[in-house]
Amino acid sequence: MPEEPCQCADCQRFYKEHDRLIREYPTLRQQQELNWAALQSFRTLAGRVLEDLQRQNSSTTDDSSLSIPSGGGTEEQEQSIQQVIAELENINAHLFSVEVLMERIFDVKVPEDIEQKFKEHAGELAPDPLNIDRLRLNRLLHQTPDLPER
Ligand SMILES: [Zn+2]
Repeated sequence: MPEEPCQCADCQRFYKEHDRLIREYPTLRQQQELNWAALQSFRTLAGRVLEDLQRQNSSTTDDSSLSIPSGGGTEEQEQSIQQVIAELENINAHLFSVEVLMERIFDVKVPEDIEQKFKEHAGELAPDPLNIDRLRLNRLLHQTPDLPER
């Protein structure tokens, strides 16, 4: 018997999102652009938060040396901020590596008839879940007894 895909809430959300991205971006060109935009938005947002934390971190360090301790940030809090900064720096480094690799994906352009093939497969892989044919097919599948065991 084929192994059933996991049906926990996280996996189901993932399958749904996965299919939606195929359905809504059914060509090579659209997938290239989508993934580039996703990568860049991730970098922009994570980079901005990192900058903010670094600034905050250095200013609290500066302040405490200049002014009377206000009792604001404990050593523990400061350590956990430094930990987050280190982790975000890691993420940014990974994203940068991914960007370098992903740039090459853009070297490829396919003719229109191949893009058409992408669309056909997208329709098969991720049909609209609310499409009437899909609903009928689902009902049929659920009525079919399980595959015979061997
Ligand atoms: Zn799961």
